[in-house]
Amino acid sequence: MRRKTKLIHGGISGDPLTGAVNVPIYQVSTYKQDGVGNFKGFEYSRTGNPTRHALEELIKDLENGEAGFAFGSGMAAITAVMMLFNSGDHVLMTDDVYGGTYRVMSKVLNRFGIESTFVDTSKLESIEEHIRPNTKALYIETPTNPLLKITDIEAAAGIAKKHSLLTIVDNTFSTPYWQTPHDLGADIVLHSATKYLGGHSDVVAGLVVVNSPEMAKDLHFVQNSTGGVLGPQDSWLLIRGIKTLGIRMEEHEKSTRKIVEFLQKHPAVKKVFYPGIESHPNHDIAKKQAGGFGGMVSFDVGSEENADKLLEKIKYFTLAESLGAVESLISVPARMTHASIPKERRAELGIGDGLVRISVGLEDADDLVEDIDQALTK
Ligand SMILES: *Cc1c(COP(=O)(O)O)cnc(C)c1O
Repeated sequence: MRRKTKLIHGGISGDPLTGAVNVPIYQVSTYKQDGVGNFKGFEYSRTGNPTRHALEELIKDLENGEAGFAFGSGMAAITAVMMLFNSGDHVLMTDDVYGGTYRVMSKVLNRFGIESTFVDTSKLESIEEHIRPNTKALYIETPTNPLLKITDIEAAAGIAKKHSLLTIVDNTFSTPYWQTPHDLGADIVLHSATKYLGGHSDVVAGLVVVNSPEMAKDLHFVQNSTGGVLGPQDSWLLIRGIKTLGIRMEEHEKSTRKIVEFLQKHPAVKKVFYPGIESHPNHDIAKKQAGGFGGMVSFDVGSEENADKLLEKIKYFTLAESLGAVESLISVPARMTHASIPKERRAELGIGDGLVRISVGLEDADDLVEDIDQALTK
């Protein structure tokens, strides 16, 4: 099955009971048992629900893994994955991971003895340097937010394997339409499905795919024990969103390319961050490991004042957190998603006050270019 077909026919399609072409929303918490312990595959909806199960089968197929799991948010998914580890274990992570991931590791899970170190995984030598005797996993986000840095998944997973570490990849930005980390050696792939997979700014969800029956058993045990599951209504919305993932990602890609070309030529723009640009330090790796470069772009307009002027005039880009939806969004990382990082650390990472991040939506690309143009120049 090719990718676009898999989005429609992967997992479980339709309802064998009625012939309905979509999986129904099984809005149910418990299931009749014909005798004690004698049930038709489902006993209680925290443990398993048919609509959620259909979504879990679908993401498993899309990521070429062994088993899929759906959670109430990306953060719930990440937390459940971390619950596979024990007190005293150490996880090595990409330094500019999603802010919420940094927060849960450094302010919540640390209290339970799960240690973490943040390194620039786009530089492979820094991975090996920071492995400790108690390191159990390498956690990669690629591309990153907001600087779109790229880590070579296959090479990083190779290093991890050599040291018997699990490789975990947050695949939110690329989606399985462009990038399937299991095929490159990753053990666990996870998503904030709130973003591109859902695609319509109407659902908060997280997904995980593991690549072995043992890990599937362990993660199901954590999912059922801690209970941060996705409800049937939201599972159904995600299945619906995923059906159009292919055409959405293709369109995001085309429009983003146009916008990047425009930004690169604009005198008010100091620098453009996008893995599709040939001068991007890891452009070749991005090209090798992903079918597309995605719809996220950051660019530097030089100062906070210039960024504010742009925000004031822009019409089609909504000032909001989040990304990956049909509507274009704009944000200023230094004062929004990355505000909790001290200014000096932000400067070290390269997140200046004039850095603007956009998530290119599905509006007409010419309207988007004209909109940025009028907002930048006047
Ligand atoms: C949004 C996001 C998360 C967190 O997901 P939620 O659904 O908001 O809990 C994790 N990783 C990345 C890359 C994200 O963009």
